[in-house]
Amino acid sequence: MLRRFALLVGTISALALPGVHARADNADAKLLEAVRAADLRVAAIGWRLATANVPLCDQMEAGMGVVVHTLDQFDPKARDSARAHFGFATPVAIEGVIAGSPAERAGLRPDDSLVRVGPVEIAKLAGRPGTTDRLVAAQLGIAALPQDAPIEIDVIRAGAPVHVAVQPVPACRTRFELELDGGFGASADGAMVQIGSGFLDDYPDDQLAAVIAHEFAHNILRHRERLEARGVDYGLLAGFGANVKYFRQTEVQADLLSAYLLANAKYPVRASVAFWQHFGPSKAGGILRSRSHPAWRDRVATLEAEATKIDALSTRPLVPALIADRNKPLDGDWQSILVRR
Ligand SMILES: [Zn+2]
Repeated sequence: MLRRFALLVGTISALALPGVHARADNADAKLLEAVRAADLRVAAIGWRLATANVPLCDQMEAGMGVVVHTLDQFDPKARDSARAHFGFATPVAIEGVIAGSPAERAGLRPDDSLVRVGPVEIAKLAGRPGTTDRLVAAQLGIAALPQDAPIEIDVIRAGAPVHVAVQPVPACRTRFELELDGGFGASADGAMVQIGSGFLDDYPDDQLAAVIAHEFAHNILRHRERLEARGVDYGLLAGFGANVKYFRQTEVQADLLSAYLLANAKYPVRASVAFWQHFGPSKAGGILRSRSHPAWRDRVATLEAEATKIDALSTRPLVPALIADRNKPLDGDWQSILVRR
């Protein structure tokens, strides 16, 4: 889980706001609200993908549609401002509630501080000070709750105890997180998808969804685990030797699956094509070309060809054949699944 370092030091170019020159506390409030909005934007896209693609997942959780955060995430210098702004009557609070989610229907609200979520006593979670231990423990505890029974929740809202019961919906088990670095990194480790905040500035929601869907596809296809089973090198040697064929196979598979994930969640299937036509020339061409990934123009051709196949299919959700292969070892065959321009 991410730490919000340097939050109030003004280095977050992606979230720097024009006209922030009023009193310091007012500036802090604007920045904290910008962070909340950015986190919610990513979480809402993740939620839409994770709930619309349940038939493609084999690891599920009880989906409530809340985004939680902790005071421990904030830089020590920012903690007083964060506490003053968000409340934090307990170590973990609701940063936001996704529109149309079970949490919203049950009446949960942003800045409700979590006391208890089902059997998980949030206020009693232990963790090392200054780490996100308690937040991670809360997220793992909530994710492990049964998916078909109401979840009884106690919160503190504006100083008073409030009780609600949330009827969850099944969701694929992946956490979607924003990294507040202004960058264009994106990664998937099997449990989590992380994307850099640079994408939020430069791309509309549909194309952000395409980036997130690609990373989410890596998790659904167990790519981290399967690459590790092949003994690949994630470091400087990723672009050399046998590593290349395994990385490329997972990259092409993630592109292919991302088209179905977008279609099932009713995003435009060609959002990823539009994304690459902008991102490719600026960030993945010439000397920026990665040896472990196929060339971006071939990725566009592959995505376009898959979108054309999806156009001909009217049923939803679509469950592509590569889902059935996710428990097989990677064979390194990327050549036969890549369409060249
Ligand atoms: Zn990838």
